[in-house]
Amino acid sequence: MKKAMTISYEVGDNLYLNFTNKCPCACTFCIRNNADGAYGSDPLWLEHEPSAEEIYADLEKRDIKKYKEIVFCGYGEPTCRLEVLLEIADYLKKSPECPKLRINTNGLGDLVNGRSIADEICNAVDIVSVSLNAGTKEEYMAVTRPKYENAFEAMQKFTADCVKTGKCEVIMSVVDVIPPEQIEASRMICEKLGAKLRVRKYDE
Ligand code: SF4
Repeated sequence: MKKAMTISYEVGDNLYLNFTNKCPCACTFCIRNNADGAYGSDPLWLEHEPSAEEIYADLEKRDIKKYKEIVFCGYGEPTCRLEVLLEIADYLKKSPECPKLRINTNGLGDLVNGRSIADEICNAVDIVSVSLNAGTKEEYMAVTRPKYENAFEAMQKFTADCVKTGKCEVIMSVVDVIPPEQIEASRMICEKLGAKLRVRKYDE
């Protein structure tokens, strides 16, 4: 496994931020199983988790306003470092012409942090994208292999709480390799929670 300090990397028009490799899941399809990076990036396994200061220093080298979105992503789950995430979002929001901020999350941040975090997240970012991955609990548990028994329920509660804030756009994503009936079941979950469904290609 190659390690580096790739804190930010470009994907299309967006800038992705990587500040943790921690994650409470072990998804069968996780890109981390196949490579050390993503979308042609340098290795995203971190030598150490960067401090807020290290992230600021990295961002100073970027022309923030040129991006369409800045995405809190991680080669891991960004809510595993909630305090740093909120600090960096606040820093970015204060920079001139800050683009939209998005978080790509597995939606398990309440369980990771031991409290409801939807308000803090929705105050910090403009778009919340939750990996739904499957339309039924059985399938969800089989593909994401979370360390929490109640992950499927907690992920949906977090999503619904984000929708309720009315402060950000809330998307749930599935990958187009799952069977059509799972996509349909996912659509119904999104309808129930008030989120938009995004069916994305495996390598997007
Ligand atoms: S939630 Fe994301 S980082 Fe974590 S194992 Fe699944 S795909 Fe990988």
